[in-house]
Amino acid sequence: MKSFDKIIVANWKMQLSLDKAKEEAKEMKKLLSKAKIGEDTVAIVCPDFLAMTEVAKIFKGSDIILGAQDTYPGDTGAHTGEVSLSNLKSLGCQYIIIGHSERRAMGESDDSINQKVKAVLEHDMVPIICVGETYDERKEEKTNFVVIHQVYEALKDVKLKEGQQIMLAYEPVWVIGSGQVIDANEADRMSQIVRQSYIDAMEGQNLEALSILYGGSVTPETVNRFTSLEKIKGVLVGGASLDGESFIEIVKKA
Ligand code: PEP
Repeated sequence: MKSFDKIIVANWKMQLSLDKAKEEAKEMKKLLSKAKIGEDTVAIVCPDFLAMTEVAKIFKGSDIILGAQDTYPGDTGAHTGEVSLSNLKSLGCQYIIIGHSERRAMGESDDSINQKVKAVLEHDMVPIICVGETYDERKEEKTNFVVIHQVYEALKDVKLKEGQQIMLAYEPVWVIGSGQVIDANEADRMSQIVRQSYIDAMEGQNLEALSILYGGSVTPETVNRFTSLEKIKGVLVGGASLDGESFIEIVKKA
């Protein structure tokens, strides 16, 4: 799969009605076709599962790639309420968010995240693994430990085949949806911790497969603060991705 130097991911969560999702997808497609985006930039949109089929039809033939917000760690089978990787792939979905803090808060375990990462790679898709500390963990000076631990657990026994990619999104949980922005120096420091954790977890292998993203209240006004950092290749965007115009502005300014 092609790798990119600038990666902008929209996480629509459960925020849009089906009609609104279709409307924003059309707007994004129209605006992106007019924007002058380099070949090295990719826009990935992760709608909810219900909107996926319709949004996939809209993005077909455009430069926007479909992603998913989660997955079952395996294929079709007797798993009530789940969605299989092969069905996601058949829609053109190439990227899967795993371990978002909102799912961790609902009880998703490190083990489940690890199984999903392996399953996504087995299907030759790209996992976007979210890591980050809560406000209390930061106050208790556990930030580094939490992030190192989450990266290690997510990548336990992961083996990459030639050309496969992994994305690690550092998202301070207390910043998500808050409108606050962290200091560029702190984002830079955390990106180095994420990178080193990946190197240690992968025993020094496959560094070329890694892309680090930043997420947390990113807007068109703040995106460049993060994407200009040497080790950060892109951003994961929630709130500001719900509006087509604002998301494409982020893509343009990244
Ligand atoms: C997110 O949910 O991953 C996120 C970054 O959301 P927001 O941009 O709204 O903070």
